[in-house]
Amino acid sequence: MADEIDNAAALEELEREIALLNRSRDFLKFTGKCHYCEHPLLRGNFCDSGCRDDYELEKRQKAQRRYAA
Ligand SMILES: [Zn+2]
Repeated sequence: MADEIDNAAALEELEREIALLNRSRDFLKFTGKCHYCEHPLLRGNFCDSGCRDDYELEKRQKAQRRYAA
């Protein structure tokens, strides 16, 4: 019985983590432009993985700066 409860809690935790990951990934809405360099796009949020990586990096650096201040 105790094991079942532990498993349920662990599963719930895992599902929450997955939901969070998906939310951060899907958070950007389609604007017709690359979110990093604003190059016009027909679909997607970035020109390529390079723009996506740079955007993520910049976002992380901004977040760190906010916490450091
Ligand atoms: Zn771009």
